Amino acid sequence: MKYSFLVDPWLTRRRVTRVVQVGDVGVGGDHPIRIQSMTNTDTMDTRGTVDQIEKLSAAGCEIARVTAPSIRDAENLREIKKSLEGRGVDIPLVADIHFTPNAALIAADFVEKVRINPGNYADKKKFEIREYTDLEYADELARVADRFRPLVLRCKQNGVAMRIGTNHGSLSDRVMNRHGDSPLGMVESALEFLDVCEDEAFFDIIFSMKASNSHVAIQAYRLLAARLEERSEGKASYPFHLGVTEAGDAEDGRIKSAIGIGSLLEDGIGDTIRVSLTENPVREISVAEKIARRSERRWSEDSALGDLRLDLQPSMDPYSHVRRESRAIRMPSLSLGDTHPVRVELELSRWEDWLVPDQTARTLRAAFSSVADVECESLLVGVADEESATRFSAFHSALEEEGLEIPLSARVPLGCLDDAFELPDEMERLVVVVLPSCSRESLETACRVAVGKGVALEWCLVGEAAELSVLIDQVLEVAKLQPPPSVIFSVESKRAVHGARQLAAELEARKAGDHPIVLRHTWTNSGDQEVGMIGASIELGAPLCDGIGDMISLGGVSDAGNALDIAYRILQGARLRTTRTEYISCPSCGRTLFDLEETTARIKSATSHLKGVKVAIMGCIVNGPGEMADADFGYVGSGPGVVTLYAGKDVVARNVAEDQAPDRLLELIGEYSEK
Ligand code: SF4
Repeated sequence: MKYSFLVDPWLTRRRVTRVVQVGDVGVGGDHPIRIQSMTNTDTMDTRGTVDQIEKLSAAGCEIARVTAPSIRDAENLREIKKSLEGRGVDIPLVADIHFTPNAALIAADFVEKVRINPGNYADKKKFEIREYTDLEYADELARVADRFRPLVLRCKQNGVAMRIGTNHGSLSDRVMNRHGDSPLGMVESALEFLDVCEDEAFFDIIFSMKASNSHVAIQAYRLLAARLEERSEGKASYPFHLGVTEAGDAEDGRIKSAIGIGSLLEDGIGDTIRVSLTENPVREISVAEKIARRSERRWSEDSALGDLRLDLQPSMDPYSHVRRESRAIRMPSLSLGDTHPVRVELELSRWEDWLVPDQTARTLRAAFSSVADVECESLLVGVADEESATRFSAFHSALEEEGLEIPLSARVPLGCLDDAFELPDEMERLVVVVLPSCSRESLETACRVAVGKGVALEWCLVGEAAELSVLIDQVLEVAKLQPPPSVIFSVESKRAVHGARQLAAELEARKAGDHPIVLRHTWTNSGDQEVGMIGASIELGAPLCDGIGDMISLGGVSDAGNALDIAYRILQGARLRTTRTEYISCPSCGRTLFDLEETTARIKSATSHLKGVKVAIMGCIVNGPGEMADADFGYVGSGPGVVTLYAGKDVVARNVAEDQAPDRLLELIGEYSEK
């Protein structure tokens, strides 16, 4: 059961799902990953909503969601549909329902899919704490089922699909009290609604398990996939809609979404995706397409590999985040592993990157001054001969002269090492690349050189699947004869996420599971910054969310300041290291009561110095308070022109005028930080 959500733990293999038709768009099965978005106009504004859907469709959106907060809004979906048809825009619509079952019944007559949230379909949220006896719980379930059944029957009759979309933070009090605001609670909540659908032989269902916390989202989707597999073993299951809610905007919104969605797609989970950004929804489409097309490429590359048949179990717990235990490694000016934070390294191993030490040091100082709130904790450069070893020392001095006291390590080709090779004195660790073609003698030489100099040795293993397994045996064997002061591992594989997962499991299986692991990623220089950022976020973020990785090392970067900035944002998005203010902001929808994009920008500029504080900016009081999950402070639209402020889940100021609310929020944060 533990890994039954995966078709194969060592390859990206797509989960087998049935096809659910959303109008003419098939979701699941062998269909491509479908791209979705949601309008943020007032649903009663037919023209504005239709304009936005037309733009979304032109940008590549394949399914568009529109909120239906009232019966009037639900009825207006008919006008929206008609107007779209009049313009020749052929795109299936989804009605988004919270708290209004009557609106859902009406919407199901006009749209191709209805999204319901099990946490609030038939329950009002009171945040009440109480114990339910089994009988009371069963009575509540029966009441909810009675409320829900008419919609199931209407959808079945109309050929309309349904999304059972659970959100972390908006579970019913009943589920929350029994299972907690947890991945398990999210899954149980969805399955209760599935039972009603299956009772009525209605199967056109798509699931989602969204959260703003990437760990919670990943765990919930995995758990649901495993539970569905248990219910119908070996059969094609229901498709999944993936998303990370309240991801925010700009780089952070893209990085958080890529980590959450991309990690699951690496597991082979996901049939349609929405990237929720606090920006114009049209901008979501290209980000979603980049994530989807990257994953489809991975699926097709891995399907060409056949079965790997590794006799190995993954070592991570897929349903809770536990950082892999590793021993501490203390180098002269850098420590990693154990309880040290996940470190950040930039690799300048290409020769042209640092041919002129003084100039490179100056360039780095200028680049790093643009991201003064975070620091580069290690630099890795390539050393291939005695001459470059001398230049290494000059580079170290040049960095010091520029005021950059950055630990410096060297990547040295195994073929260059012999017993006479003089490693530079300033070197923190020796990184050697181990290929399947490397001889045992060359590995022994690397050990002797590291022992002779008293430096840590990183084995950077380059290989796939079975090769990796052989390489690990070889280096562990060699290191037993001549134990270097410290041993670190990394892997360079076309399957970066699975390579890191395999490395951790192989080490664990050989009782060597406490060697620290460096996660390596080479920036994709496609000329599109977003593509590079998405690739890095997935390849580094997915193992980090599984608890694997003591340092991340980014290579192939052209702008060191930008790379450093992205590296720390990835660590924060993967919830491994918080170095900045955390923003949780909803993408806005037809319920939004203020200009969310502009307000978010204003609040960000006023609070960006508050390291580690989590600030939520939510468009409406109906869903906002529940969905801002674990925010420290909340800024929630509560009526036209007014905002309610929260400290945790407590209301601290009600209906503050919108123009005064950002200042009041700042005062509030100040008051609480003094306590
Ligand atoms: S929290 Fe934001 S996206 Fe969610 S329903 Fe409210 S306004 Fe819409």
